[in-house]
Amino acid sequence: MTELMEQSATTKITFPSLNLDPQILRAVEEEGYTEPTPIQIQAIPHVLASRDLMAMAQTGTGKTAAFTLPLLQRLLPHASSSVSPARHPIRALILAPTRELAIQVEESVKTYSRHVPLRSTVVYGGVDIKTQKPELMKGVEILVATPGRLLDHVESKNLMLNQVQVLILDEADRMLDMGFMPDLKRILTLLPKQRQTLLFSATFSDDIKKLAQDFLINPVTVEAERRNTAAENVKQSVLLVDQDNKFNVLADQIRSRDLKQVLVFTRTKVTAARVAKMLERDGIPSDAIHGDKTQQERIKALDAFKEGKIIALVATDVAARGLDIDQLPLVVNYELPPNAEDYVHRIGRTGRAGASGEALSLVDDKEERLLKDIEKLLKREFPRERAVFAPIAHASSSHRATRYSTPGHGKKTTPEEDWFLRPYEPSPVSAKVEEQPSIREEKPKKQIAALLSRPLVKP
Ligand code: AMP
Repeated sequence: MTELMEQSATTKITFPSLNLDPQILRAVEEEGYTEPTPIQIQAIPHVLASRDLMAMAQTGTGKTAAFTLPLLQRLLPHASSSVSPARHPIRALILAPTRELAIQVEESVKTYSRHVPLRSTVVYGGVDIKTQKPELMKGVEILVATPGRLLDHVESKNLMLNQVQVLILDEADRMLDMGFMPDLKRILTLLPKQRQTLLFSATFSDDIKKLAQDFLINPVTVEAERRNTAAENVKQSVLLVDQDNKFNVLADQIRSRDLKQVLVFTRTKVTAARVAKMLERDGIPSDAIHGDKTQQERIKALDAFKEGKIIALVATDVAARGLDIDQLPLVVNYELPPNAEDYVHRIGRTGRAGASGEALSLVDDKEERLLKDIEKLLKREFPRERAVFAPIAHASSSHRATRYSTPGHGKKTTPEEDWFLRPYEPSPVSAKVEEQPSIREEKPKKQIAALLSRPLVKP
C-alpha cells in the first residue's frame, strides 16, 4: 500500500493534494471530478516520481487520467507556444490496441491539457496515412497511436521517436491478444533507453509479466481492482434463453425497461451486423461496430450512440475494447465470449468510475461451459433464471407482436398468465415470421409470447 493509500483510509485524498499544476487541476475540475479514483490515487505519485509502473486497471476505473494527469505534469517544463515544429518533439508515446481506444485516449489528453500549451495527436490504421502527416509535421509532444500505424509513419519518416521520455502501454493485455508483440518489440528499439515506461493492463497474465520484464525497469506495481474481479458496482445476471429466442428477449428487455442506451456484445461480426439490423427492423434504432466496418463507419456509429441517436450499439469484443460511454446503464452479452477474461472487459463498459450498472448475459445450453469458465474466473456463481415463453393465442401477424417477459422482472403472475407459462406450441403466425428472409436465421422458429409483466396482445 502506498503512503497515499494509507492516508486515504483515514482522510480523503483530493486532487490538489496530488501535486498537480493548477492549470491541470482546472481542467479536472471542469470535468466535474470531485475526487481521484483509487487507481489515480495509487498511480499519480509514482508517475510524478518518474518510476516505471505496472498498473492493473480496467477501463472505467479512471486509468486514462491516472497516467495522463501526471504525464502532463512531467511534460510541463517543455510546454511551449512556439510554432516551430522543432520545439515540439514527441516526448510521450501512448500505445493503444484499437483505433477507438486510441481516439478516446487522445480526446482525454486534449481535455486534460486544454489549459497547458502541450500538443497531442492520434494516429491509427484504416484511414489514409497522408491525412495524418500534416499534424505530425507541425510537431506534437504527446502522440497516441496504434502500433501498426505508428510503424507505418516511422517507415514513411513522418516522425522521430528518439526524444520520447515516457512510453505508455494502454490495455497491454489486449495488445498481446491482438498479436502486437512483434510491433511492440520493434517500437522499443526506436525509443531511447533512458525513459519512463507505464504499463496498464486489465489482467496480469504471465505474458504481461514477461512483457513487463522486457519493457520496464524495476517497476512499482499498483492494482485498482483485484485480479480478474469484475466491477463490484455492476449487477450481473444470467438469463437462460435458447439461441432462437435471444433476439426477442433482447428486444423485450430494451422495450420493457425503456432503455435509451444499451451495448450488446456478440461473438462474431456476422451476428453483430445481423442483430443490429434486426433491432432496426423492430423499431429500435441500432448500429453495429466490428472489424469489417470502416473507421468512418465505426466512429459514426459510436458518435450516434454517445449522442443518443441510436439506442443499441452491437459490438464484437475487439471493436468495443476501451469504449468509454458515460453512464452506460446496461451491457447485454448476446453471446458469451469464448475467453472468460473478455467477460470482465465487456462488463467494465458499465458501472464506470463509481456509477452503478448492469450486465445481463443471455446464455443458451451450448454456452453453459463458457459460463462456468467465467464463474471460475470470478469465483462466484450466478443464479440462472430462464426466460419463459408461451404462445399468444391471437397474435397479430407482425413479428413485432411477439411478447416476452423474464422472471424477476415484473409483478407476480396471475392464473391467466400462468397459462402462458406452459411450454409453447407453434402458431400459424410462425410461418409468416419465417418468411421474412433477412431475419429468418435469428427469428424464433415458432411464434411465442411471454408474459409476466407484459400486457397480452388482444385478439
Ligand atoms: P477510464 O477508466 O480512463 O476509461 O475512465 C472512465 C471514465 O471515468 C471516464 O468517463 C472519465 O471521464 C471518468 N473519470 C476519470 N477520472 C474520474 C474521477 N476522478 N471522477 C469521476 N470520473 C472520472
